[in-house]
Amino acid sequence: MKNLFNFLFLIVLLSSCGKDVTIIHIGDTHSHLDGAILFCQHDSENFNIELGGYDLIGQVVREEKRKRGETIFMHAGDLIVGTRYFREFKGKPDVKFMNKMLLDVMVLGNHEFDRGPEFLSDLLEHARFPVLAANIEINNLPELEKVVKPYIITGSWPWHNGIIGVVTPETERISSPGDRIKFTDPAKSVEKYVKVLRDKGVKRIFVLSHLGFEEDKKLASEVSGIDVIIGGHSHTLLGYTGLECLGVKGSYPEVVKGPDGKKVLVAHAWDHSRALGKLKLKFDLRGNIRSWSGETSFLLREGTKIPFRLDRSPTNMFRVVDPEEDLLKKVKHYRDIISGEYGKVVGEIGENLSHDWEKGSDIAPLVAKAMVWRLGKEGTVVDVALQNAGGVRRPLGKGEVTFGEINDTLPFFNDIVVLKVKGEDFIKIVNNSLNLISNGAHYGSFPYLYGMKYEIENFKAVNFTVFREGEFVPLDPDEYYLLATDSYIAYGGNGYDMLGQITDRNVTDFIVSDVFAEYIGYKEVLYKPSISHPALQ
Ligand SMILES: [Zn+2]
Repeated sequence: MKNLFNFLFLIVLLSSCGKDVTIIHIGDTHSHLDGAILFCQHDSENFNIELGGYDLIGQVVREEKRKRGETIFMHAGDLIVGTRYFREFKGKPDVKFMNKMLLDVMVLGNHEFDRGPEFLSDLLEHARFPVLAANIEINNLPELEKVVKPYIITGSWPWHNGIIGVVTPETERISSPGDRIKFTDPAKSVEKYVKVLRDKGVKRIFVLSHLGFEEDKKLASEVSGIDVIIGGHSHTLLGYTGLECLGVKGSYPEVVKGPDGKKVLVAHAWDHSRALGKLKLKFDLRGNIRSWSGETSFLLREGTKIPFRLDRSPTNMFRVVDPEEDLLKKVKHYRDIISGEYGKVVGEIGENLSHDWEKGSDIAPLVAKAMVWRLGKEGTVVDVALQNAGGVRRPLGKGEVTFGEINDTLPFFNDIVVLKVKGEDFIKIVNNSLNLISNGAHYGSFPYLYGMKYEIENFKAVNFTVFREGEFVPLDPDEYYLLATDSYIAYGGNGYDMLGQITDRNVTDFIVSDVFAEYIGYKEVLYKPSISHPALQ
């Protein structure tokens, strides 16, 4: 009788506790210690709301982890690169904060490789959380090999969770991993490690992905055995659809049918420390998901005014957070160090300047123009300047603008390079970029030009003209033109391989963000560019 009682007690214990997991997640935070602004135009109303920050995320994570049950805190990659904080502190605050927030696991993003693999291994030496990437082969980089794992297992018996990490193979093309790291097919890697985990008796399988939303849905439909994919890279916001300017791409979580007919949940949580995703999962005894609930919430500092239209959205979408003193102090520490130089006002923005990779950018063509202006000041007359969409990271609101904000807008700290390009190659280079985009690469490579115009017909650039002596004249395919662009593009980044192969080049020591700040100062008030740029849509 006693045995039967014990047995029943065990059954009750197994079915009532330990089975449920809450995943809280962020991704694409890109060194945004302060969070970022949500720019929105809705029904001809403009509003800018300050959202998020590491202190707010830290507080929410603390509160979630204090609750009963198992909570796993995940970062979906692209922790670093993107603000003045990165320019100044090279990612150390990001890693320290994640340590402090008790991050449970992170997957590598493409931007983690921007400064090369040695930089990355030096940075990760300080990490107290596991770092994943199942689809990379590392050769002869022992420091990095030591820290990067294909998967981890968390939780306690019998409720183990397997977490597999995958990073976009595009990293090879859009970042600087060097030739000692090879990126392999994410689906094959996930398939392989699902089996490894199953063989170890792990029933619940989560993929932590830096592939992008569309790729995640594809992965979910192609590889069986996955329960949940927590993703990043595409900066996707899921959930509330009542406000168009948020650009919400689907429901939270998105439910995809796996190849075995089982439901796979795909969840993303936007970017720049502005939001936090929370997915509560209930499992049955066999390890299948029985039910779930979840949402993306925007993190607001106490006292932040919410425009009334947003106020009508579901209440759980906004989370007012009051961080504890130690968290506030830690962000303030870094903010104080950089507030001097970076807090200086460089000029004024005369009207809201948009920047959206898909919808178009007011800022990118202005940056191209600033490059031509700066070089001209030195006596170097260039014909054309190119700024790719992905080099610009945020819009700029009307009003005074600081050097720090310009560094957040152009965070990559690239020099201007001048290249000699043949007319016919220009046509190929622009079309190559448009081809990549129409074949599914993200819009980051989209070329914004100053001094050259073209038209787009069915994703093909045609009718190129160049500005010569006060007017646009047809581009001569046999003539050579001087092109100014940033060092990332000039060395073949973002698919601009053809530019990378040009040897006739002059690397200046003008940093693009400094030049843009100087240009705004020169203009005093900066307005939208006068020539509208062809858009893909
Ligand atoms: Zn990314």
